[in-house]
Amino acid sequence: MKNKKTKEKQSKYLYRNADDKPEFAKIEEEEWECPCGPDAMRDSFWPCDNYGNLIDPNGPMKKHKILCQYCGRVFHSTTGQVILRRNVEDIDKEFDRVYG
Ligand SMILES: [Zn+2]
Repeated sequence: MKNKKTKEKQSKYLYRNADDKPEFAKIEEEEWECPCGPDAMRDSFWPCDNYGNLIDPNGPMKKHKILCQYCGRVFHSTTGQVILRRNVEDIDKEFDRVYG
């Protein structure tokens, strides 16, 4: 019973693509490539919190996640697994606030 609950919680929490499969960034020699495409390879990843909100890059980076600014996928910072996907329509305002 307890295990079942945990499982449901996890499957809701972790992002799945249209085929209902978990997604990962392609990581090669510390270069990340997002599932949204090779065009986003350069400068598209930013440190964020568990919900994909940009965080101060000079602050503590202990458990940060990684956001792709183009598609809004939020990645685990070491495994590259996609945890969730957020709306990035207003991402420029967030950049102004955090990096401006
Ligand atoms: Zn992306």
